[in-house]
Amino acid sequence: MLKLENVTKYYGNHLAVDDLSLTVREGEIFGLLGVNGAGKTTTFRMIIGLLEQTKGQITLDDKPINYDLTDQIGFLTEERSLLTKLTVKEQMIMYGTLKGMKEKDILEKLDYYLNRFHISEYKNRKIKELSKGNQQKIQFISAIINDPKLLILDEPFTGLDPINVEEFVKVMKEFKEKNRIIIFSSHRMEHVEMFCDNLVVLVKGKSVLKGSIKQIKKDYRKKNIHIIGDVDEEKLKSVKGVLEVVDNANEIIVKIEDEKYINDVFEIVKKGQNIIKFMVEDPSLNEIFLSKVGAYYEE
Ligand code: ATP
Repeated sequence: MLKLENVTKYYGNHLAVDDLSLTVREGEIFGLLGVNGAGKTTTFRMIIGLLEQTKGQITLDDKPINYDLTDQIGFLTEERSLLTKLTVKEQMIMYGTLKGMKEKDILEKLDYYLNRFHISEYKNRKIKELSKGNQQKIQFISAIINDPKLLILDEPFTGLDPINVEEFVKVMKEFKEKNRIIIFSSHRMEHVEMFCDNLVVLVKGKSVLKGSIKQIKKDYRKKNIHIIGDVDEEKLKSVKGVLEVVDNANEIIVKIEDEKYINDVFEIVKKGQNIIKFMVEDPSLNEIFLSKVGAYYEE
């Protein structure tokens, strides 16, 4: 189990991470979300011991993380940390050896993943000759080559096309199946919703939203009602609890403050004509994220 307890980091006078606590269990994919400068990279650097926290505790299975544990950790950094003059193979042998692996095992794993990410032909090419997306794949392979117990991925999807995002997600899910601890960061919500178990949203280093996606959506209370048909939109706008009525292509979306107002909206819709859809949906994680982050900035 990875545990952060009241972790705080100052760079000089600048507070970058503010009293952050979180737990990631085996078999869990945890999302650290936040806009630029929220404190995600700083948090990861503290977890792997590249930076020392100003306050608080970080442990893996109740032990502080130090160099003895590095062969159990895989880390994909946000900025490219590849040695671009080396070939893919040379880079991976160096990286795997540092993690205590035998060359035979490194090469076996490398062939497997290169094949999986459809880049086998780049094995003996210099990293600088690879496209950005393919360099990202090499970074990802470097992070997983030693089959780590704790996998830390800082913005893993940067520069990837949707097909390769899917492939990365598949590998992350396989690590989850193998009971590994996975923590990743992102400032985009689209993919997070599909595979993340728990998450924290950071704003200026502080956690503003925390928990499982299911619970976060439940607690958020607001709902979106999707309607197709001829309905008096002005009447909908006047219903108590209706926050907004959006005309969206062929459907109307009514945003309500709380699910208790669904019936009141339904009463108006009933009086309309040609109604073929009335569907209540949870808002997307992106909508919740924007509202939470936005609210914080407005304070
Ligand atoms: P991004 O999504 O842009 O990568 P992030 O969430 O990873 O952002 P961090 O890189 O952790 O954010 O930065 C958190 C805050 O700390 C920012 O305000 C940043 O300017 C500041 N910061 C980061 N590194 C340093 C440093 N070495 N010295 C001083 N301030 C720093």
